[in-house]
Amino acid sequence: MTSQRTRDRLVQRLVEQGVTDLEVLDVMRSTPRHLFLDEALAHRAYEDAALPIGYQQTLSRPYTVARMTELLLRDHPCQRVLEIGTGSGFQTAVLAQLVGEVFSVERIRPLQIQARQRLRTLRLRNVTLRHADGGLGWPEQGPFDGILTTAAPEEIPEELLAQLAVGGRMVIPVGGAEQSLKVVDRTEEGIQTQVVESARFVPLVSGTVR
Ligand code: SAH
Repeated sequence: MTSQRTRDRLVQRLVEQGVTDLEVLDVMRSTPRHLFLDEALAHRAYEDAALPIGYQQTLSRPYTVARMTELLLRDHPCQRVLEIGTGSGFQTAVLAQLVGEVFSVERIRPLQIQARQRLRTLRLRNVTLRHADGGLGWPEQGPFDGILTTAAPEEIPEELLAQLAVGGRMVIPVGGAEQSLKVVDRTEEGIQTQVVESARFVPLVSGTVR
């Protein structure tokens, strides 16, 4: 299930789909995705598929995790990164191995608690989790030089834009039935937005669940 060959095959698939960042590919190879799933689904962990994590949420497919991470970090090393939608914690774990510090917000409390346990098991200590509505960002910890959102708002929340440092970058799916993945850079001159590809994420929902 977690044999080196299975993981190599997944990384090969990511390369075929156009992921090029070697550091990202290395972290995708070495991060145990099966630990972020229920035991009953763990045998599917190295398929390039989105998988359910309960509460009607999904662990994004490996391609999506790798692609978003590569977009965030391309020619753009990050010290402080805000993630919205901790979910299983897998994307959080990938980020934590590539940036200085990760601040991750999840609105569903039981998911946050599980993710915390998993990140502890992996001894990833540069991660701070919070149970809150991530649409509001995390103003006390901002500004951030990276913001990555794994749930899609209809429009980019002003609060998130306001917490993006000058020189900072946000990777975010935006839209309703039709979504697109956007890369937003804040420069001295202002905001620059690039549409990268179409996307399908769970919606960003306001409020929290205990
Ligand atoms: N990155 C996660 C993906 C989980 S799916 C993973 O790799 O497993 C998206 C997550 O965003 C869900 O857990 C959902 O509960 C969360 N979410 C949705 N709206 C949110 C909000 N406003 N604030 C924080 N988290 C939110």
